Amino acid sequence: MASAASELDAPTGERRATADLSIEKIAGELTALLGPGKVSVRSDDLELHAADKWYARNLPDMVVFAESTQDVSKTLRFASKLSIPVTTRGAGFGYVGGCVPVGGGIALSVARMKKIIELNPADGVAVVQPGVITGDLQQAAHAVGWDYPPDPASLKDCSIGGNVATNAGGPRCLKYGVTKNYVLGLEVVLADGRVLRCGGRVHKNKTGFDLCGLFTGSEGMLGVVTEVTLRLIPKPPARAMLAAVFADFPAAATAVQQILNRGHLPSALEITDSFTLAAARKRLGPDSLPEGQAHLMVEVDGRPSAVKSEIKELESLLQELGAGEVRKATTPKECEALWQLRREFSYSLRDTGLTKLNEDIVVPRSALVDLVEFARRLEEDTGIPVACFGHAGDGNIHVNLMVADFEDPAIREKAENALDQLFAWILDHGGAITGEHGIGLAKKPWIRQALGDVSFAVHKTLKEALDPQGLLNPGKFLD
Ligand SMILES: Cc1cc2nc3c(=O)[nH]c(=O)nc-3n(C[C@H](O)[C@H](O)[C@H](O)COP(=O)(O)OP(=O)(O)OC[C@H]3O[C@@H](n4cnc5c(N)ncnc54)[C@H](O)[C@@H]3O)c2cc1C
Repeated sequence: MASAASELDAPTGERRATADLSIEKIAGELTALLGPGKVSVRSDDLELHAADKWYARNLPDMVVFAESTQDVSKTLRFASKLSIPVTTRGAGFGYVGGCVPVGGGIALSVARMKKIIELNPADGVAVVQPGVITGDLQQAAHAVGWDYPPDPASLKDCSIGGNVATNAGGPRCLKYGVTKNYVLGLEVVLADGRVLRCGGRVHKNKTGFDLCGLFTGSEGMLGVVTEVTLRLIPKPPARAMLAAVFADFPAAATAVQQILNRGHLPSALEITDSFTLAAARKRLGPDSLPEGQAHLMVEVDGRPSAVKSEIKELESLLQELGAGEVRKATTPKECEALWQLRREFSYSLRDTGLTKLNEDIVVPRSALVDLVEFARRLEEDTGIPVACFGHAGDGNIHVNLMVADFEDPAIREKAENALDQLFAWILDHGGAITGEHGIGLAKKPWIRQALGDVSFAVHKTLKEALDPQGLLNPGKFLD
């Protein structure tokens, strides 16, 4: 296996001049081009743009704080003339090292482009700049009775541009889909500085190839997203939730299938395994959760009367399927308390003092039990504890390898061998190595295996067509 470690070992702090120009000279020319206050070579700015929430870091040579599409276009035209690498950064809340500027050069921040340009319920669209924080857009839509459903757990911090570039998901994808299902139109600056517009503000559009689909999920390697037109939907006026504990994981997974087979389409279906529950009981006290080795949370939303009758039916169904105590939440405050309990599960894993390698794998839903059984075997074989929980309805389970210290080379090697086994199993069982976080650096070693030779070659062809010099986010999964 090629090792992700090689990316981590990229020389930190190496500052390269381009051709015969010094970094200071390049920064000066860019400042003259963009105007004052938009280009920085200050070490604190370089540090702040060296990493995301994964483990790799590398300093850029300079940071450009773009404030408009023109700034992005001028920067890319300039960079392309001088062959300077450019790594776009949204909020830096990625989980796979995607915005780490491993090639040095320019870290292009779009964080200042954070205007909600238009919220238009009549057309069911929002037009936003890429630096808008996802949670802010959601709040703004709610304020006018509308909704932008994609809800990554990081929504208070991550940006819409980052969500588009990673095709972010979240707990409500089962019913509402992922980011790409809401992207109607994009403005993208290409590597040579040209500005491309694709899609538009209509809800159906079959004009030409699906370029919005191509750029969505392209992890900053095909262009820089500078404006996004998103689909909004009417906000469901009511929601309610159930939380149940089952004797074992297979019983909870059976409940997932039964809920869907009986014609329910919950907005969320979250499952949690015994390792995570044990950690939660330690954090919250032994009586915090009824006895049982698996936890299931179900959320439904819609018109108030429909939600009321559906939650009653689901409560009976869970009891019929052998759930222990079933907790019900019917007000926004009670629902929030149950989601808070779910969030405590993650914090409980942190309490173990181990480092969580959060792998957002996906399996066909019928393989959930096999996956968790495999995780137990992996734990026994490698001695690395494995915690599984996540979006059961999508088969998108976060498999967390709990390691002592990922930066210790011996531990990292052992963890990467365990990841090798995990991803091989996932691919053998018709799954995907990432459902929402993307490839970035974290999953680069497994990309060819995951895509296959022909698909990988087509990816490279597309990259070469749009970015012939390979300047956009170099060092990532196509290199
Ligand atoms: C605690 C936590 C919970 C999370 N939960 C979820 C979850 O539930 N679901 C989920 O999907 N993800 C989740 N994530 C991962 C992360 O939040 C998402 O990947 C998010 O979309 C990243 O957005 P960002 O603005 O932080 O992007 P960044 O980290 O800044 O960048 C991510 C990638 O997008 C590219 N990029 C950013 N902006 C642009 C742009 N304007 N144009 C072109 N390329 C761009 C970057 O080059 C990079 O490759 C979580 C992360 C954390 C830390």
